[in-house]
Amino acid sequence: ELEVALKVVIVGNGGVGKSSMIQRYCKGTFTKDYKKTIGVDFLERQIEIDGEEVRLMLWDTAGQEEFDAITKAYYRGAQACVLAFSTTDRDSFEAAHSWKLKVENECGEIPTVIVQNKIDLIDQTVVNPEEAELLARALGCRLLRTSVKEDINVAAVFRHLAARCLAD
Ligand code: GDP
Ligand code: MG
Repeated sequence: ELEVALKVVIVGNGGVGKSSMIQRYCKGTFTKDYKKTIGVDFLERQIEIDGEEVRLMLWDTAGQEEFDAITKAYYRGAQACVLAFSTTDRDSFEAAHSWKLKVENECGEIPTVIVQNKIDLIDQTVVNPEEAELLARALGCRLLRTSVKEDINVAAVFRHLAARCLAD
């Protein structure tokens, strides 16, 4: 039986929790300051979806997103996308649309989940729930709210994407 391997890219403004999410999902840990391991392009985790083994390769950036300098190699061959913004960062929410276009330019239409991270900080939210729903509808994507810190809904993001890819 063939093993399915999926390259997943995680985009969004700096500071929204992308690296933390990859670390949480693949290593089960959370730290206040996650530093990318030099020389490692991605972390992976294997899961089972409807009896099928799926190897997810989660590609991280080294902070280039802040300088709009993500290379084509990052996007090349990506089959699914996590588009993340932060509950406490209005700019990251406003930037979601342009991140979607960027991924579309490089990868075409691939299964994408919009993630509102840091939901543990909902008391300090700068994005109201309706706005987030509207954004997801406008971009034609599922919206999931996560806390990487509290490990809420993180696995659901990747299960959803893997299932979507298998269904295609
Ligand atoms: P990146 O720039 O998108 O890769 O973001 P990082 O993963 O480096 O995270 C930026 C900061 O947000 C770090 O201090 C993380 O510890 C913190 N962070 C990430 N996820 C969460 C979360 O769900 N809740 C809270 N409160 N902090 C988080
Ligand atoms: Mg990072």
